[in-house]
This record gives sequence, C-alpha cells and structure tokens, in this order.
Amino acid sequence: METVPCNLCGSREYTKVYEMPDRRFFRDEFFAVVECSRCGLGFLNPRPSIAEIQKYYPTEYYQGPPTSSHDRYLTRRYTRQANYLAGVQNASARKKLLDVGCANGDFPRFMAARGWEVEGVEISESTEKIKDFPIYTQELQHIPVNEPTYDAVTAWAVFEHVHDPMGCFQKASRIVKPAGLFVFLVPNFGSIASRHLFCEDIPRHLYFFTRETVNQYLNKTGFSLEKEDNGRSVYKMAPYNWLAFMIRTRILGKGYKFRDVPLTSKEFRRIRNLRPGLVTALKYAVYSPASVIDRMLWPAIETGQILRKTYGVSTYVARKL
Ligand SMILES: [Zn+2]
Repeated sequence: METVPCNLCGSREYTKVYEMPDRRFFRDEFFAVVECSRCGLGFLNPRPSIAEIQKYYPTEYYQGPPTSSHDRYLTRRYTRQANYLAGVQNASARKKLLDVGCANGDFPRFMAARGWEVEGVEISESTEKIKDFPIYTQELQHIPVNEPTYDAVTAWAVFEHVHDPMGCFQKASRIVKPAGLFVFLVPNFGSIASRHLFCEDIPRHLYFFTRETVNQYLNKTGFSLEKEDNGRSVYKMAPYNWLAFMIRTRILGKGYKFRDVPLTSKEFRRIRNLRPGLVTALKYAVYSPASVIDRMLWPAIETGQILRKTYGVSTYVARKL
C-alpha cells in the first residue's frame, strides 16, 4: 500500500469521506476514500500500488454476461458514445480515433464501420487479442505517440482506475489535434451513489471526480470543457439502498456506514449460495424489505438525480485549445 498526495493539486491535506471493503473479491479488506482539502478531488488513500493492484483484477473481473440480448443493448450504447463525437470538425481527411481502455475493441470497431480510422489502448491481458486495428498494450502515458495525431480520444470509465489521471490528461493533450475532442466518462463524486451509498468499485476505482475537479484537470492541460452529460445513457450507477440511507440520515438522524448497508440481491445470492428464482427473491425481500421498495423507486430517484446533475456518472466532452 502507498500513501499519495493529491494528483490534481499536489496537496497532502485531505479528509476522510468513507471506508468500505472490496465488495466483490476481498470483503474483509477495507479502504479509505478521502477528499483533498484544497481542490476537492476524491481518491483512495492509502491505495494498492501499481504492483499490488493486479490482485484486485482476477480473471472473473473481465467475464461479462455472454448473452445475445446484450448485443442490442451494446449497439445502443455505442451509438450514444458515437454521438458525443459529432462535434469533430474534420471534414476533409479520414477522422482518427484513439479509444483508451477499449477492452475487446468493440467500440473502435463500431466507429471503424462508420468510416473512422481507429486505434486502441488496452493493458489488460485478460481480454481477447485484437488483430484488426493497431492496439497499444502499455498505459496511455507510455504509448509511442507524442504528436497531435487524433481527431478524438475517448475513455469510457477508465480514469477512475488509473494511478495517475494527470499523466493521462497531459498525454491526451499532446496527442489530440488542435480543436479535436477528448471525451470521457467518470464517476460523479457529487452524487449520493458515489459519495454515500458505497456504490464505487473499491479498490479498482482509485479516483472520484466532480464537474469542478474535471474542469481543473482540463484547464491545467489545455482543454476547454464543452459539455457535461450527467446520466445513465452509457454506463449506470444505480442508487442502491437510497431509501435505507435516507431513513437513517434524514429521519433517524444517524450516520450511514458500510456496516449499515444491506447486501445487494446479487451479494445475498452469492454469499448464501442461492440460485436466482422466486424463492430466493422472497428470501431477499424478507432480509431487506427497504431494498425491494428502493428498487421500485429507482426510476423516479434516477430521473430526479439526472435533472439535478447528481446521478452517479458523467460524460465530459472537452475540446483541445
Ligand atoms: Zn487537491
């Protein structure tokens, strides 16, 4: 484990926001999320070093649901992601994209089918080998490109995972062409889900951003923020146990610590070794009635959050100056 200064402003003064364990793989290992007293950046501190972090990315981490109904959902997501690139102003030549954290390469492939020349960055060894377009297997800061090369650089849910977001922003600034776009999705530390409901994927998520801290990163690295799209159109962060949190904090006037959080239905099944089905659903409803009511309230809660820009994730569109 290593203790680090703020990646955005260099300050070593911070306050603890909450503690929680690795909910997915190591439920007895707790980590602290802190907030920089000077600039407001959220980060895990202390945190696993680059050498130690591998342990928290076992093979299961990369195994998604392999159903075909997923494909239509993914196409919808990629279409939304592509829409963020509509503002690229390169009418003449073939437009060039670098997708950071491209996993199996489906999004760059989707853009290639729409006429883009594409490249990707993927450091995980657990994803399928990509052979149909150039791929860099080192961290973004270290790829052998150092000139303005791309009309757009995209990174979907990547910068919360890296050890040095500033290094990524600086590198993006070097490789995006003047007036090119830098589009990325990160957790919203201004949301109840990120800040209070223990929805972050700790310790794989190391950094937690707000519109203000993203703006500071962009200003320091030569981008201007054009748009923040707070919502669930690309990735989701559902407000798990919002009701339990509200009852404890607003009605009972108590705090809300990790030990107060009911298990999610998935955790409940895994820990008690139960199969999905009606009986299990009923057992879960008996275990945590508030969670079941909560789930019915999600559409209304999420709509309210999106209107107030307090949903758990945001996509940012920035332009190179
Ligand atoms: Zn700071």
